[in-house]
Amino acid sequence: MSATTGHCLCGAVTVRVESLSDEISACFCDLCTRWGGGLQMGIEAPANRVTIEGPLKTHRSSALAERGWCDTCGSSVLFRYVADRDTGYLELSPGLFENAGGARLTRVVYADRHPDGYWLEGAEVAQVSQKDYEAGNPHLNEEC
Ligand SMILES: [Zn+2]
Ligand SMILES: [Zn+2]
Repeated sequence: MSATTGHCLCGAVTVRVESLSDEISACFCDLCTRWGGGLQMGIEAPANRVTIEGPLKTHRSSALAERGWCDTCGSSVLFRYVADRDTGYLELSPGLFENAGGARLTRVVYADRHPDGYWLEGAEVAQVSQKDYEAGNPHLNEEC
């Protein structure tokens, strides 16, 4: 598969990924809901397959991870694990890529934590509750 290149709103940050996954996940945990402006969506990639250039700023949002944005325009760029078993993986914002890189939403985690007024659903979208997600990821506890 060929590399996919994306960029933030202003174009200052560019992201190049080898073999971009075709699956998008969304998260309604408290951190993602606040940071993403309503929810956060991501395409997972091994960090060593991703090249980022430009003014990326990061914020350590939990013990496990940090979040990165363009320091010029504020676009959400990535969520990156920096501790524990998922270190070495990150999630890239689908909107960086034309047509979301051709990927499609396959999973919503913390699905039962959505605000009362909105949620995501679809025939092929798995809904994973907080309880089930944390059962499969025991190193998490409301901090993804
Ligand atoms: Zn930008
Ligand atoms: Zn989350």
